[in-house]
This record gives sequence, C-alpha cells and structure tokens, in this order.
Amino acid sequence: MNMSSQSPVIASSRESVLSIDNLRIEFPAYRSTVKALNGVSLEVKAGEIVGVIGESGSGKSVTAMLSMRLLPERAYEVKSGALHILGRDMLAAPEKDLLKVRGKDVAMIFQEPMTALNPTRRIGRQMLDVIIHHQQLSRYDARAKAIALLRDMHIADPEQVMNSYPFELSGGMRQRVMIALAFSCDPQLLIADEPTTALDVTVQRQVLLLLREKARQRGTAILLITHDMALVSQFCDRVYVMYTGAVVEQGTTAEVMADPRHPYTKGLLLGLPEQVEPGQDLMTIPGQVPNLSALPEGCTFRDRCGYAMPRCAERPPMQSLDSETGHQSACWLVETPRTSLELQS
Ligand code: SF4
Repeated sequence: MNMSSQSPVIASSRESVLSIDNLRIEFPAYRSTVKALNGVSLEVKAGEIVGVIGESGSGKSVTAMLSMRLLPERAYEVKSGALHILGRDMLAAPEKDLLKVRGKDVAMIFQEPMTALNPTRRIGRQMLDVIIHHQQLSRYDARAKAIALLRDMHIADPEQVMNSYPFELSGGMRQRVMIALAFSCDPQLLIADEPTTALDVTVQRQVLLLLREKARQRGTAILLITHDMALVSQFCDRVYVMYTGAVVEQGTTAEVMADPRHPYTKGLLLGLPEQVEPGQDLMTIPGQVPNLSALPEGCTFRDRCGYAMPRCAERPPMQSLDSETGHQSACWLVETPRTSLELQS
C-alpha cells in the first residue's frame, strides 16, 4: 500500500494522544539509586499544546525521552505505572513497533538541531531519507514534499536550504528545518524538548509561533518541555509543573498563572522578568533541587518552602481545586483557609 495516499488519522478532540499514569522509574547507580520519576501522571489530548515546566532535575526531560523510549534500555528500571501513546503500551512495545511510532505517530524536536542533523550531509538528503523511510514516496515526490514543507515553514528559498549543510544555516533556520522534518510525516504528537533555548529571544518567539501555527493547522498535539515559564504562558493551553520527578501542580495555563496554588509554581512565576523593575535581578527560588538519590520524606520542596509546616513531613497528595478545569495541586496549603498564594506576598 502506498502510504502517501493515506491521510493522517486526526484523533477526536477527546482522544488521549499521550497518557502517563503514576510512572516511577529509577536509574541504578554505583552504591545508590537515582529516583528520576516518582509517580508522574499526565495526559495530552489531540490538538492540545501542553507545557511541562520545572528546574533541571525535575524529571521533565526524562519524561519526554521515556515517552519515545529513547533512554538506554539497560540504564533504567520501571518500578510502576504505565505510558501509552495513541493507546499503545510504550513500555511493553517491541523495538520494531517503536520504529513505526517514532517519526510517524510521534516526532521530537531537540534543543540543538546540530545534534539531530548530520553535519556531513546536505539538508535535502537528510529530509529525503526521513520522508522516503516513513512515507514510501518516490525520490521525486519526496523532494517535492520536502520543498513544500520548507516553504510552509516560511523559508523563502527552500532549494538553497536543501543544498546547504547544517553548519551553513543560522540556528533559527536549522530549527525551522527540524520543525519541517518533524511535521513531514503528519505526527499526532510532537514532543519539543527546550526547542528554542539555544536561540536569541526574538528568533525564539518566531520559531515557537511557527510551531504553534503549524500544529494548530494540522491538529497536532505538542508536549513542550521547558524551564521557561514565559514560554508556557505564551504558547501552552495547559501546564504541568514538575518537581523531583513528580507533578506538583497542573491546570489550564491561564488558571495556574493567575492563581498558583503550589509554592514551587509561585517561585517559578516570581522569576518572570515582569515581576521585577527594569535593572533589578530576577528573583530565584532559594536552595537547590534535592539529590534524587536521597530524597527527603514528605514534601520534597520542604527545605525551600517559605510556607512549610509540621504536616509537610508527610507527602501531600495531588488534590483537585476545580474539577471542571482540572486545576490540581500537591500541597497541604490547599486544605487551609488561605488557598491562594498571592504573588506579591
Ligand atoms: Fe510547602 Fe508544605 Fe506545600 Fe510542601 S506541602 S509546598 S512544604 S506548604
């Protein structure tokens, strides 16, 4: 069957594209165990743009890599939980099934395109390889598709880009090529791991606007992994805030930004440039993410939290704040009368 004749199956608005349920994984290390994911649950539905935010060590990139089963198989142990993409059990799927999923149902964009593109091959040849592999098109048709994709990414001279080596392009142009490649097989989910961190602010915004525009046009869902709350606020429909390998707050972006219920989320929001006067240093959360090999009992944010109380020695469960919007927080403050954390406090 010629795959090119098939139109992509667009999931219904309620269909879950990515579903992670109480996932725990560990990395065995010399004389210790790194508890990288400690009960992560999250969901991305068809067409949604969902952000996952947290500091380094929060588990967000591990979650992204594991979703594609890109972590070295012997490096980690799944202790519990489940991970499904379009209903397929990704933790149990054999390698041959994963090859069909990667690049076709799900595509990934990394922070630095130079690591994903082969520096010794021209862009055109690399694009043709991917398109021919997944879509079984003739070389002629694949080339026409590659040019159309680059043009669709607002690249004015696609032929010239096709004839270029990656190092001959600017960082922003390389990332547009990566986005074109990611969309080349009409994936239903695109995982973007810090896709614009290496770019300057203006190009960063252009690339993300392009990513969102193309995803909306095609009905592609995006999981955006980032440490930058400003990007989440501008581009995501919903957000999951991660800390020490678990989700500590989730909800619509508008709700979480306007009414953060977890002190960690509040700390991330206080780090936004608009929270300080021009010329002032940005605010940061005091302390550091705890060692994942020796996580404290109870709330793992306790040592950095200005609201800590005796009860925080017990791990707080995720609690619902609004069943309609799905706003939830894992903090004992949810149960106190003062349930909202004023940003200016
Ligand atoms: Fe702070 Fe306690 Fe809430 Fe943890 S549970 S974030 S320590 S108030």
